[in-house]
Amino acid sequence: MPAPTVCLTFDFDAVSPWLHIDESRNTPTNRSRGLYGGEVGAPNVLAFLDERDLPATWFVPGHTVDSFPDVCERVADAHEIGHHGWSHTPPSDYESRDAELADIERGIESIERLTGTAPAGYRSPSWDYSEHTVDLLCELDFDYSSSGMAREFEPYYVRDDTAPPDDRYDPGEATDLLEVPVSWARDDYPPLAFASERGYTAENAVFDDWRAQFDHAPADSVFVVTMHPQVIGRPDRLAKIGAFVEHARAAGATFREVGTVAERYD
Ligand SMILES: [Zn+2]
Repeated sequence: MPAPTVCLTFDFDAVSPWLHIDESRNTPTNRSRGLYGGEVGAPNVLAFLDERDLPATWFVPGHTVDSFPDVCERVADAHEIGHHGWSHTPPSDYESRDAELADIERGIESIERLTGTAPAGYRSPSWDYSEHTVDLLCELDFDYSSSGMAREFEPYYVRDDTAPPDDRYDPGEATDLLEVPVSWARDDYPPLAFASERGYTAENAVFDDWRAQFDHAPADSVFVVTMHPQVIGRPDRLAKIGAFVEHARAAGATFREVGTVAERYD
């Protein structure tokens, strides 16, 4: 029975996001949330995936690779590692192309030390691109990114677009960079992580919604779910994602790493 391909993705941010949002957020208690992700959440997620024989793609900042090497080695032994910046700085926050390039290159070096090879895939911190990001990813020979939203479930080639504020939008030409699209509607962080103005959603509703989205996705969909070990790594939440996995498997879904999906488009 034709059914969507599901990509379970984990953005293993750990401590890194608290360092670059603004200085006031870099506090011991905020960092402890990342520590939970690194020391408890990620091992729980690894056990969950192992028990169910599930492939997954982990987008890991170089900061996490360098700070939590043991658990990152366990992740790399079992799953695809994608790039997620070194410092988890949102790309449009960089003051120059060179500063963004330096951070991406530092992230590649961390992953190469971990896996022995450069990552094929990239996910931008905060799902944000600067005006230079796509160009840099092409220059650095990334095969794919999983950060954009121009389609719901269908991979596409990122366009070199321009949007002058005083003239028409120009979608430009397709680049060589494949986008395996994401959606805020399939991300655990906005509804389930307390971030001042968000969080405290009725939790079952989130997983019910993911199930409904899956049930309405076309058979040839690539259904990307984005999760964070510090958010999803609690046992009660893993049980809920486990029920989603069982539901998708019963419907005939195949689970794949994002890189495996991207290879089909070579
Ligand atoms: Zn992230």
